[in-house]
Order: sequence, then C-alpha cells, then structure tokens
Amino acid sequence: MHFPALEQLVDLLGSLPGIGKKSARRIAFHILKSDPENSRRLSESVLRLRQEVRFCKQCGGLAEADLCHICSDTARDQSLLCVVEEPSDVFSIEDTGEFQGLYHVLMGALSPLDGIGPEDLRLKELSERIEQHPFREIFVATNPTLEGDATAHYISEMFANRGFRFTRISHGIATGASIEYADRGTLARSIRERKALSDAG
Ligand SMILES: [Zn+2]
Repeated sequence: MHFPALEQLVDLLGSLPGIGKKSARRIAFHILKSDPENSRRLSESVLRLRQEVRFCKQCGGLAEADLCHICSDTARDQSLLCVVEEPSDVFSIEDTGEFQGLYHVLMGALSPLDGIGPEDLRLKELSERIEQHPFREIFVATNPTLEGDATAHYISEMFANRGFRFTRISHGIATGASIEYADRGTLARSIRERKALSDAG
C-alpha cells in the first residue's frame, strides 16, 4: 500500500526527538481519525510557533522580540550569570524560583563522540558577554553528565584567573541525569547548594 501523504508525515514525526517509527505511525493514524479541526489547529500551531518565538539575541533563550523577558528585566541580578545547555533548562530553573540572575544558553554540550566541539556551542557569545559585563558569579548549570561536566570544566579553564566566582550545580541531581527531568525540589536544592568549581581560577 502506498500513501505518500501518510508516509511523509510518519517520516517527519519519526525524526522528532523521542519518537520512533511506531509512535510516529500511531500519531499519524490518530490524526487521521480525529476531528479535522484539530489537525488544522495543530498545523497552524507549528507555523505560529516558528513565526512568534525566536532565540534571544543575548542569552539564546526563547524570546518573542530581540531580547527575552529575562534579559530585559532590570530587576534581575545583573551580576549573576547561569550557563545552561538548552533553552528548556531556563524553564526548569525558572520554575524553581531559586535563581534571580541572567542566563546564557550554550545550545548543547561538548561531545567529541558526536563531533560537537567548542566552536559548535555559544562560547564566543559567552566570552563577549563576560568581556563586556562585570559578572560576579558564573554558575555553570550544565547537566551532571560526562558531556555537561566536560563543558563546565572547559568553561572554567577558558575564563580562569579572571576574578569570577565559578559555581556548579550541586550533587542533588544524580550523576548522568538531566536538569530538564529533575523534580523541582531537587533542582531548587542543587541551585541553593551550588558549589565552587574546585579547579576554578
Ligand atoms: Zn535573553
């Protein structure tokens, strides 16, 4: 049986993170069976997301203008910068209410096996921000994984002896876990109890 429209949707859905071929097919059949109005709203919603939401020019988090609402908020602690891997991590940390500073999103973590090197992350932008702004503390909240730890180490080396206090998310979150899936209480504690990076200059 040959249904190009169905196959195209299954291929597209299957290319999304966490969705395998079987789930993609199940979703496609669900869409076929459901109210056509829902399908229209779903496709419009995808387009609307791309039209209305972009990445903040400064921090790399989500924004509806050039600057996100966090970067534009002068009431936030301008001396404290939290470095995270993904825009979704900003949401997780904001949900805890524990952090009042600014963010910098790297858009990933160092992973030589996947071919992701320093030049693939927003490190140049981080360097420029640090150059222009007197931060007191750089809080590196990359995931407590091999890649996240390597990235934290790289950043602390990159900006060693520059007079910042470097801190790292504490061990409340299990090694190998991710910030995105940590429960709010655990994450809040990891932020409150953040520790100085031992090799920081
Ligand atoms: Zn921003």
